[in-house]
Amino acid sequence: MRFNFCKTLISLIVVTELSLLGCTPERSLSAKPTEIHDRILTVDGHIDWPIRQFLNPEFNPSIRNEPGLADSGQWDLVRMEEGGLDAVFMAIFTVQRERNSEANQQAKAHANQLIDLTEKLVADNQDQVEIALRPEDAYRNEKLGKKSIFLGMENAYPLGTDLENVQFFFDRGIRYITLTHTKNNDLADSSTDEQQEWGGLSPLGAEVVREMNRLGIMIDVSHVHDDTFWDVIELTKAPIIASHSSARALRDVPRNMNDDLLRAIKKNGGVVQLCFLGDFIKEMEQTPERQAALESLSAELAAWSQGTLSPEESKALFAKYREINQQYPENKPTLADVIDHLDHMVEIMGIDHVGIGSDFDGGGGLIGINDVSEMPNITQELLARGYSESDIRKIWGGNLLRVFEEVIAVSSNK
Ligand SMILES: [Zn+2]
Repeated sequence: MRFNFCKTLISLIVVTELSLLGCTPERSLSAKPTEIHDRILTVDGHIDWPIRQFLNPEFNPSIRNEPGLADSGQWDLVRMEEGGLDAVFMAIFTVQRERNSEANQQAKAHANQLIDLTEKLVADNQDQVEIALRPEDAYRNEKLGKKSIFLGMENAYPLGTDLENVQFFFDRGIRYITLTHTKNNDLADSSTDEQQEWGGLSPLGAEVVREMNRLGIMIDVSHVHDDTFWDVIELTKAPIIASHSSARALRDVPRNMNDDLLRAIKKNGGVVQLCFLGDFIKEMEQTPERQAALESLSAELAAWSQGTLSPEESKALFAKYREINQQYPENKPTLADVIDHLDHMVEIMGIDHVGIGSDFDGGGGLIGINDVSEMPNITQELLARGYSESDIRKIWGGNLLRVFEEVIAVSSNK
């Protein structure tokens, strides 16, 4: 298989935390966005802190990590409070490796480890945060002044070929499952693999969709091939989500949603959540020095994309990546660029089908919106563009939790 540097790089960006460098402009917030955040429930539908914590065990999420430093990540409890963010869906992410029973068992064990460390975070900070399993948990916690952590699974790989694992992970708290990551798996075709394998959903993938409907787990179509999307939307009895995808009309990459997909989600009653990953927002020129530095990692990136690096080797690779980002900062799109995607989605779908899935700690981060402490900047930009408080409430999680309620309503776990 020919190695595709760009694609591998994009995969890397999607998977791991990157530099938090940044040219973040000084914030000059009027009181209004913060006041709105006090009045509404705000939800970020996709943050990759668990894998970041796994790869950087020395990171302390209970303290304020100074924004902009290489090892600060983009989420911690203190900055979440600063940003007026009430709830997050933490991604329980596994990189797609081999598909045999031994590798499947390892993926399941890895997902369990990531859930364990998220539960530990909550246990260590019981006064501030709780695991949430249903929308009402988040609304209740917000009234009590507590934050909520929901669990989503990014890549269904840990299910292996055993349908009973859907119930297993439901019992562990998983409330959405992204069917694939950057490669095909036993359930479905991915949008970024070299070639299709199933023509959409596999027969097992179809059973998993039905089982998710039965249990009340949201089906996440970010990362999946368009053919998988169409199979899912035909089969599902409940609304679906794209937890972190933007608009293909503005940036033509397979990870974004084209207008036909957006219209289908509207019809289905679902939600598409804006992703803040630079390459999905706008094509940006990078310096030759940065390009050359990234090329020097190409062999390791290829190995990583094949799933052959150990966690230690992956950690070393990510450290080198951070160094390159410090030395040769990435030329990133801005907050205004990503809100252009939102405007387009609203034009196609209306206000009831959009949300926010930053992908912080998984590659997300733009000029003006580079960590959770900067969330009010989004609200400020929405106000400047004429969105009402009622619109903003829907964008900031109201739509996602409405979908979640409908998913529960069609399930047998009402
Ligand atoms: Zn992703």
